[in-house]
Amino acid sequence: MLTDIKNFSIDQIKTWLETNGVQVYRAGQIFNQIYLHQADDFNNMTNLSKELRRLLAQHYTISRLEKVKKSISKDGSEKYIFKLTDGNLIETVLIPEKNHATICISCQVGCALGCQFCRTAQNGFIRNLTSGEIIAQVRDIRQEMDNPQRLTNIVLMGMGEPLANYQNVVKAVNTLTDRHFGLQFASRRVTLSTAGIIPKIALLGHDTNVNLAISLNAADNDTRSRLMPVNRKYPLKELLNACRGFPLKPRRRITIEYVLIKGINASTADAHRLARLLRPLKVKINLIPYNEYGKNSFQRPEFDTIQAFREILVNHHYTVIIRHSKGRDISAACGQLRAQLL
Ligand code: SF4
Repeated sequence: MLTDIKNFSIDQIKTWLETNGVQVYRAGQIFNQIYLHQADDFNNMTNLSKELRRLLAQHYTISRLEKVKKSISKDGSEKYIFKLTDGNLIETVLIPEKNHATICISCQVGCALGCQFCRTAQNGFIRNLTSGEIIAQVRDIRQEMDNPQRLTNIVLMGMGEPLANYQNVVKAVNTLTDRHFGLQFASRRVTLSTAGIIPKIALLGHDTNVNLAISLNAADNDTRSRLMPVNRKYPLKELLNACRGFPLKPRRRITIEYVLIKGINASTADAHRLARLLRPLKVKINLIPYNEYGKNSFQRPEFDTIQAFREILVNHHYTVIIRHSKGRDISAACGQLRAQLL
């Protein structure tokens, strides 16, 4: 079976060309055709010789994802459901902001980490996405946009834990941010969010230049382990040590994401504990009031509780943003992605 060429890095394609007796600089031309000119067919790459086009077509495809559903929220967010070649479904969300748009992409079908507040976890883990499938979410949706220039930001916060699919994610990110031969996104506008796979955090800082976000959600180990079983393996102290060791670029900060859940992690005592816990780190804090779903789920705290939590952190001199997730009416908000057609 032919493989999607987007699963390969430019260096891998250079090696392949060399093995086949073709000059390696052709790899740049091929990548430009795919990522800059959106080519879908090797035959149309007229700057390549007929033989090379034939050779490419014998070994590779340039796949697109099959879009099976697109929902548009009242706030303008767009949720796409894509069917992969093996029939699995994934979701991608395009979020319009004032002057730009952000795309939230998935890295796995389902997720093994089982966070209690997350709908993706309910599907269990099915498989990792290939780097081609990760890239295609951005490439395909960008091509559909009226004004593709608006799409400047990428967040890896959709379905799955990015650092549990490390190699494919890094390869995809490096193609997305390649200024010469890739999709040319600025790495400072790409943010990867992890539940805290500690051994991969340092590696990520070495292998990419993207921003790091930590899905923290509790300031003590008991609560965090209850909400996020991954905390039993990678507890808070070690996680924050890994954050301290992350090579931050000048003027950048780590984003701390904190889903506020009524009666679980949203008290004033929790806020004070969080402020103490994060003290030595360069962070900004995103507070995300829980997005309710179903009958038995957690609840969102009252407005006053959310404001009081925020104020405590602000008084400790943190930058705090209350993020009211977009796309709640189409189940596209944080924690709601499940990739169901109904
Ligand atoms: S919050 Fe992220 S890491 Fe946790 S189960 Fe959901 S997708 Fe996985």
